[in-house]
Amino acid sequence: MDRRSVLKKSLTAGAGAALAAPAFSQGKIEWRMVTTWPKNFPGLGVGAENLVKRINIMSAGRLTIKVYSAGELVPPLQALDAVINGTAEMSHGAAYYWQNKNVGLSFFTGVPYGMTSREHAAWVRILGGQQIWDEIYDQFGVQGFLSGDTGTQAGGWFRKEINKVEDIKGLRFRTPGLGGQVWAKLGASVTNLAAGQIFQALQAGTLDAAEFVGPYNDLALGFYQIAKNYYFPSFIEPGLATEAVVNKSKYKALPADLQEIIRTACQAEYDQVASDIYANDPRALETMVSKHGVKVHMFSDEILSAGAKASAEVLTGVRNSDNALAKKTAESFIAGLNLLRQRAEITDSPYLRAREKFFKLK
Ligand code: CA
Repeated sequence: MDRRSVLKKSLTAGAGAALAAPAFSQGKIEWRMVTTWPKNFPGLGVGAENLVKRINIMSAGRLTIKVYSAGELVPPLQALDAVINGTAEMSHGAAYYWQNKNVGLSFFTGVPYGMTSREHAAWVRILGGQQIWDEIYDQFGVQGFLSGDTGTQAGGWFRKEINKVEDIKGLRFRTPGLGGQVWAKLGASVTNLAAGQIFQALQAGTLDAAEFVGPYNDLALGFYQIAKNYYFPSFIEPGLATEAVVNKSKYKALPADLQEIIRTACQAEYDQVASDIYANDPRALETMVSKHGVKVHMFSDEILSAGAKASAEVLTGVRNSDNALAKKTAESFIAGLNLLRQRAEITDSPYLRAREKFFKLK
C-alpha cells in the first residue's frame, strides 16, 4: 500500500467514524405522544398536532414526536398512565381527566365559577400555580405544561329545555372534573366520556345531555343531530386549559435547548389554540343555528345561582379535604381569583358591559 492510499483509507475511516459518533446519533430523538382527542379534531386536537410540528421545526428535526389520536396506542382516558408507565413520552389532554389521581389536578384545567382563560394563565404562570402543579405531577414522575385553552365554554346540549333546577333531576349528563361534582349536586347523574364517545352515548340514549367545549369543537362532534337545545354559558368551565405532559426523567435528560423548545412551543400553541377557538366559535354557532336548527338558550338565573352555590360547596370541600396538595392548590387558586377579580370588576366586566350596551357599528 503506498502512502497515498493509506492516507485515503484513514480519511475514509475517519469520516465514517464521525458519522457514527454517539453525539450525532443521540442528537436525533424520537418520541411518542398519546392524546385524548379523536383524529383531526379541530381546535384542541389540531393543537396537539401543531405543537409537535413546532417542536420538530424549532429543534431542526432533532426531536420528532409521533402523535397518536385517542385509542390508537392507548384508550383516551389512559393517556397520562401511558406517560407514567413509559408507553409514551408525552400526552396531550386535560389535567382534570386525572382528578382521581389527585383532585388538585382539576384546577389546572378549569374550575366551576373560577377563572377565565386570561386569569387562569396568570395564576399558573405568575401567581404560583405551576409550582403546585409540578409538586403534584412530581409524585407521578411527569411534568405538565399549559398547551391550549378554549375560553369560556358552552353550557351543554340538552334534548329538552331546562329552565329550573328541578329539570336537572336525574338527567344523565356528560361532564368531567369539579364541574361534574357541581352538576351532581344540582341533581344530574354525571359521567365523563372522552370526546369521541359522547355522540354514540347520546345516540344510544345512555346520555340525556352532554357538554364538551363550545361551538367549534361541538359542531365537529355533531351533537346538534341529537339534542337541539344549546345552553350558554358554562358556569363550570369559564376558562379551560389543555395540557401537554412529558415524562419528567426523559425531559430532564434532554439538552437545555430542547427542554426550552418544548416549554416555549407549548406556550405558543396555548395562545394559538385560544385564538383559533375564539375566531371559529361564532362562525360555527352561526352554521349550527342557520343550517341545523340549533336553539340557543341562556341558563336561567335560578340555575346559575344554584350552580354558584354548588360550586362554592365543591371548592370548600377541596379546601377542607385532608389531601394536602389539593388543599394547597385550592387555597392558592382562591387567593389568585380574589386578586384577579378586582381587575375583572373594575376593568374587563365594565368595559364589556359598556360595549354591549352602547356600541355597535355595522
Ligand atoms: Ca367542557
